[in-house]
Amino acid sequence: MTTRTGRCVECGRTHTGPTAECASPKTMNLPAGKTCAECRFTRHCQAMYGKTAQDETCDFFPVRFLGKPAASEAAA
Ligand SMILES: [Zn+2]
Repeated sequence: MTTRTGRCVECGRTHTGPTAECASPKTMNLPAGKTCAECRFTRHCQAMYGKTAQDETCDFFPVRFLGKPAASEAAA
């Protein structure tokens, strides 16, 4: 399990709420509770960027997390 850095890509600081310098934190964290494995781009990111299925951050900004299609959709 990786640790969420929470580092803001806007100001480079770690903050989860608004600060005097930065109104809204922009991090590369995936949505709460989601991991790389749950994203439909996971294979691409693991192959190209060395991400792991347990990663809770995205190498893209803005975060490109996109849930996998529903089972019924995948089976079609
Ligand atoms: Zn910031």
